[in-house]
Amino acid sequence: MKSHNFYAGPSILPEFAVEETVKAIQNFAGTGLSLMSVSHRSKEFIAVMDEVQELFKELLKIPNGYSILFLGGGASTQFAMVPMNIMSKKAFYLDTGAWSTKAVKEAKAFGEVEVVTSKDKDFTYIPKDYTIPTDADFMHITSNNTVRGTAFHTDIDSPIPVVADMSSDIFSRPIDVSKYAIIYGGAQKNLAPSGVTFVIVKDSILGKMERHIPTMLNYETHIKKDSMFNTPPVVPIFAALQTLKWIKKNGGVEAMQKMNIEKSDLLYNEIDRNKLFRGTVAKEDRSLMNICFVMKDEYKELEGGFLKFATEKGMVGIKGHRSVGGFRASTYNALPKESVEALIAAMKEFEKIN
Ligand SMILES: *Cc1c(COP(=O)(O)O)cnc(C)c1O
Repeated sequence: MKSHNFYAGPSILPEFAVEETVKAIQNFAGTGLSLMSVSHRSKEFIAVMDEVQELFKELLKIPNGYSILFLGGGASTQFAMVPMNIMSKKAFYLDTGAWSTKAVKEAKAFGEVEVVTSKDKDFTYIPKDYTIPTDADFMHITSNNTVRGTAFHTDIDSPIPVVADMSSDIFSRPIDVSKYAIIYGGAQKNLAPSGVTFVIVKDSILGKMERHIPTMLNYETHIKKDSMFNTPPVVPIFAALQTLKWIKKNGGVEAMQKMNIEKSDLLYNEIDRNKLFRGTVAKEDRSLMNICFVMKDEYKELEGGFLKFATEKGMVGIKGHRSVGGFRASTYNALPKESVEALIAAMKEFEKIN
């Protein structure tokens, strides 16, 4: 039976990326050596690093004046690294779920943090009614809330620099990078296996802090050394390059967005139609990447039954995050439409027998 991989992260990657990485682990770039055993300073790997940066620029139309970094530590390290590098005294955070709450907590160590939150309604919407404080050094958003299934669908126009955690929606849609000072994310949702963190940073925002920034946590260290100050995560970076080649071959981020809208529309329509299920978040803020739904109250006792039923039909990873319950289907770029259709078929069938 075919498995349909709805895991939230690490998660599905293009078969092409997996296959090319497997080949390179056996024989990297004709060296006869494993990708795992080749110096990051070899000309073959430097070529990978150059190409992955070029494809980031090309696919996201990154303007001049930005650096692209590949670091360790996960998005979670960026929660502290961002304020450490660019916060003098105050920052403004939109707290839209589990990950941004963690980001807020880290920022508080570096100064005053003004927070607008959607916690009042259990993070089921994106706040829209707020004034951006112009005395803050930057504002921070989580563009796609992996746990709750909400997302910002447009780039924010802000009088102060915008920082975005795009761990779970990078390359899922076109973005206007010029509207951001920093974009970061763990790669293990839509780009690569876990182990590498991407950071797109506007060079001109750096170098203004009075505090001591530890060498490894200073963006400038990594910009100067082209992400090779220390050993970068070689295998995940190679895999990320393969994913980007696949995105390019399949029409770029515009085509990804089109597919993602198509897939998520199919599933949301079924959630809204099916008598057993309901969506959990405000319709206008629904994520295209992480689709959260639950059993309607009157069918609550069927939850375990549906999970078992869907699992038997090949669905993997649809159990909702432990903090939300219910179900979450992650529909990242690499998830084929057939998988969404298979989940919908299971939902329809389960409705019929109940
Ligand atoms: C997964 C995730 C993180 C955490 O990433 P790590 O690389 O595990 O630190 C942070 N933010 C968002 C939006 C995520 O989806």
